[in-house]
Amino acid sequence: MKNLEEYERELKTCSKCGLCQSVCPIYKETGIETVVSRGKFNMLLGLIKGDLKYSQNIDKYLSLCLNCKACDDFCPSSIKASEIITAAKNKYKKYCYTIKYDSFFKLKMLSLSFVFNLYRFSHFSFLVGKFEKYIIKVGFLGKLFILFDKISRITVKRKPTIKNKEKNLKVIYFEGCFTKYLNPSVKNALLNQLEKNNIEVILKNFECCGISALYSGKKDLFLKLKEKNTKLLNEECDYIVCDCATCLSAIKEYNESFSNKVIDIFELLSKTNSTQIQKEKITYHLPCHLRENKKEIKNEIEKTFSNYVEMKDFDSCCGFAGDFSINFPEISEKISDKKIQNIEKTDSNYILTSCPGCVIGLNKGLINKNLNKKVLNIIEYLEINS
Ligand code: SF4
Ligand code: SF4
Repeated sequence: MKNLEEYERELKTCSKCGLCQSVCPIYKETGIETVVSRGKFNMLLGLIKGDLKYSQNIDKYLSLCLNCKACDDFCPSSIKASEIITAAKNKYKKYCYTIKYDSFFKLKMLSLSFVFNLYRFSHFSFLVGKFEKYIIKVGFLGKLFILFDKISRITVKRKPTIKNKEKNLKVIYFEGCFTKYLNPSVKNALLNQLEKNNIEVILKNFECCGISALYSGKKDLFLKLKEKNTKLLNEECDYIVCDCATCLSAIKEYNESFSNKVIDIFELLSKTNSTQIQKEKITYHLPCHLRENKKEIKNEIEKTFSNYVEMKDFDSCCGFAGDFSINFPEISEKISDKKIQNIEKTDSNYILTSCPGCVIGLNKGLINKNLNKKVLNIIEYLEINS
């Protein structure tokens, strides 16, 4: 991971063609030049040369990025804008993010975990489901409560382990914080599916992947988490499997010898299994952090789900992007509204995706529009239907 100054040459290769404007979701909503990569590059060159002084405004423009990497894909000069923006944040930003990764991080997550478990234990969800349309009308708090209810539901339970089956592959499962602390449903589905496909799985006690620390300008913290996780990941295996696109991109960002073994669970199962599912119409939202494998994932989805309907811009950001939706709620909502309109046009009742963050973002968007559709991680849907 380079320092900002080391990107000066790349910053200067920007031809100012402006193509990044046509893909940046934030530019499309705001029309502000300094939010798009070209504009940010001019600003950063000014800072590097000393023509500009770091200010609150610059801080805001640096934060106005979803890290969706859409501009990286589109840039004819192949400039990795999201990498440069992250380097700039790490040089300049004094950024405060929602759940800070500090010495109390685990305590905070365990407290949240307790709340989620208590809620599930209360079986209150049954009543919430019945009165959802009334609760939504309560306004912001009602919508927040429905969102909490949806993301706390366990869709898949863990099946009993089948012992003494010969295994074909050995994988390490990188369990992300959402699954670990808030909802184990996706992990249950992943473990059931790995077992069903005779894949041996190694479970370890990983730390947070560190990506929000990195994107928030806390590179030192990211490096500490990387060091701890890297020790655990350096074990002989065929693949390192993730059910969260964001964790997957973080581990790849570690840039260690195992990086090319990191794989999304759906992609891994597509390699080992040719299941075909003929059920109701489904659509799929591609998380920004799986953008690199867009073609492969799209092909596998088309092969696996005979009733797949592709939504327009299936690879565009859902607008959530963690803290972004809290710091810039209006822009986040506008981006989300577009995604929901595209979902509605597919007439699908199930929206599948591969990242817990997107599951939250898509549910939030659907609740805002009072639409009753189900959002699932793709591995949960596979487990339920295969
Ligand atoms: S697409 Fe690339 S080269 Fe063109 S203006 Fe944007 S950053 Fe510069
Ligand atoms: S990463 Fe996404 S949000 Fe950020 S500048 Fe590029 S296109 Fe815009």
